[in-house]
Amino acid sequence: MIVSKSPAELDAMAEAGDLLVRVHEMISDMVRVGITGKELDRAAEEMIRAGGASPSFKGYQGFPATLCISPNDMVVHGIPDKRKFEEGDLVSIDCGVTLNGWVADAAITHAVGEVSDEASHLSEKTLESLLAAVEQCVPGNRVGDIGHAVQTVVEEAGLSVVRSLVGHGVGRSMHEDPQVPNYGKPGRGARLTNGMVIAVEPMVTTGGHDVVVGDDDWAITTVDGSLAAHQEFTIAVTDDGPRILTPWYPLVKTR
Ligand code: MG
Ligand code: MG
Repeated sequence: MIVSKSPAELDAMAEAGDLLVRVHEMISDMVRVGITGKELDRAAEEMIRAGGASPSFKGYQGFPATLCISPNDMVVHGIPDKRKFEEGDLVSIDCGVTLNGWVADAAITHAVGEVSDEASHLSEKTLESLLAAVEQCVPGNRVGDIGHAVQTVVEEAGLSVVRSLVGHGVGRSMHEDPQVPNYGKPGRGARLTNGMVIAVEPMVTTGGHDVVVGDDDWAITTVDGSLAAHQEFTIAVTDDGPRILTPWYPLVKTR
């Protein structure tokens, strides 16, 4: 069931989104060679709790942390650990904030120091595909229009869309209907209506689209070892146009 939000509810979700953007700004300032995922995770949790909110991921289906930190060939759901970030790492960081019962969800891919041309191409095109998707988030369009927009940018860049992981509705729960695949046909799928809120989150690789779950039952990596990137906004569909509730771009430095 798709749950539409009132204008006041969208404003409440935007407050969660504003805190989440500030967390991502802080994380972006901290990302450097030698820092660990654990350090970032601790700082994020402190900031979220100081803001009167809670980290949406922590405890979700048993996930143990505030951030998902997914380096290089890891696509999503990496558990923060004590490994030091290295020059050239491409690290996707996902975070959810629950404030006054409303969830905001956003992910950013960061370059650590100087990264390869392949890595920056991947990260930039993943962001470009997200921005193309935002334009489709208007009443009357369908979920397939979003997926088609992402897929077109990604595949024209010689990259692949991960198929088995999708975006989603978001609101009082982190995962609501509808599912929002990053591929699709224009004019197909659920119709977008005023007040819908969705997390659009292209997950893109430099190789094939197959992924596998790791030994910890969380981390999802590419089967072929290719690099992955993940950029995500929580977006409201409104009669006034798309409203990005987690407007981290162009605020946040990603390199
Ligand atoms: Mg997310
Ligand atoms: Mg999400």
